[in-house]
Amino acid sequence: MGTHDLHAPRGSEAPFEVVNPATGEPFAKVPGCDEAELDSVVERARAAWPAWRADPAARSTALEAAAAAAEAAIAELAELLTREQGKPLAEARSEVSRLAARLRYFARLAPKSRDVGDGRAVHSELRWQSVGPVAAIVPWNFPIQLASSKIAPALAAGNTVVLKPSPYTPLATRLLGTVLSAALPPGVLTVVTGQDPLGARLATHPGIRHVTFTGSVATGRLVARAAASQLRPVTLELGGNDAAIVLDDADLDAIGSRLFWSAFRNCGQICMAVKRVYAPARRYAEIVDALAEQARGVVVGDGLDETTQLGPVNNAQQLAVVERLVGDAVARGAKAVAGGGRIDRPGYFFAPTVLACAPPESPVVAEEQFGPVLPVLPYSDLDEAVAAANSTDYGLGGSVWGTDLDRAQAVAERLECGTAWINHHAELSLAQPFTGTKESGLGVAGGPWGLYGNLRPFVVHRPQQP
Ligand code: NAD
Repeated sequence: MGTHDLHAPRGSEAPFEVVNPATGEPFAKVPGCDEAELDSVVERARAAWPAWRADPAARSTALEAAAAAAEAAIAELAELLTREQGKPLAEARSEVSRLAARLRYFARLAPKSRDVGDGRAVHSELRWQSVGPVAAIVPWNFPIQLASSKIAPALAAGNTVVLKPSPYTPLATRLLGTVLSAALPPGVLTVVTGQDPLGARLATHPGIRHVTFTGSVATGRLVARAAASQLRPVTLELGGNDAAIVLDDADLDAIGSRLFWSAFRNCGQICMAVKRVYAPARRYAEIVDALAEQARGVVVGDGLDETTQLGPVNNAQQLAVVERLVGDAVARGAKAVAGGGRIDRPGYFFAPTVLACAPPESPVVAEEQFGPVLPVLPYSDLDEAVAAANSTDYGLGGSVWGTDLDRAQAVAERLECGTAWINHHAELSLAQPFTGTKESGLGVAGGPWGLYGNLRPFVVHRPQQP
């Protein structure tokens, strides 16, 4: 069946294959959810909602139990995640651990009612109500982390959830559905798997009340367009092209490794990875060399091998994008100081690549690469660097790297993005709002903002007691 809730009914649908990116070979088949089955899943989510929203204390207890169940399954979930996604096992384990932490964080968070009266003889109270069945749609780069960032606040708010992973990475999420739904009432959380157009069907299903989507800007636009015609609320977490500005006082020995891994972790397949580095012209060669030396030393391999630091690109389509962007940049005069092409072995491996002298207008700089590739660009004054960093339609994150922290912060505050870091990148706490400006998204996830994003205000007026 194409659903993964222990209590879900069976359906009939065509299975599809899941490929291990470290070998390029299919290793599992997953059933697809057909239209009739999706109808029945959404109906079950609707039927489960009244009881789930009615009792916050029971909800909180169930979410704590779900967190414990996820923790008990870390090893199994992490191995599946590595097999289908490619990331090193240690990173897969930490992704699953974070899921349990997030479930607990939201299980303990409650919305705050407040008096919104204006002094007249009427008591006016703002309460927060759940919205109903939520469609949660996620991509393939962090299947478990992104699923958890959607299901934890939605469930804690009293909504029920139908979760759809990417067809490239359905396995760990299916298992997650089994593990979590054992601790939850039937219909509260269901995982549906299938190839597209399942995503569009779920997002536009008449029984869905809110869509929370993470993925590319192009697909986000389609989701927003459909939601507009249905007047349905939507939260969009989309792509990024984060810049890192290295200042002339940066201590490369202290920050070099962190800067490198901010670009290359998860094989660069992170919405808020560093995707462009701006380096002061007088230190350009030194910074390019430091990054290239690290790229050459990385242990690339199958994520199941504990010595691996960098796995493969997740899928053949994304590998072709990375190859095209690097080939184009080199044709325009860029130099691959490290890497530059595929690694000659089975699977979707691309050598960690540092590009010098890529023209600023080249797609490898202007577009989201989403792969193990980092262009480094020189700047001659800070205004130029800030203008270049902001010269994109994306606005997810950005960072500034230097020794004088006040000066670095003054530069960071000029970046047009949702989160800016100094001497770090992509470190997020569970309690912070997560959002992007410009085309990087709509709505706010994370922390209490994530909870309120799954609720709607509801006001009760009643006369004061005489
Ligand atoms: P994608 O947009 O191709 O697919 C994302 C999901 O949407 C998949 O589950 C897919 O099956 C589904 N989908 C496809 N068509 C749909 C439709 N018409 N309606 C509804 N759902 C549909 O993205 P991808 O290639 O899987 O992931 C990479 C992208 O995700 C990158 O752009 C990356 O920056 C972005 N991303 C953003 C964040 C963030 O939090 N901002 C986090 C991770 C990844």
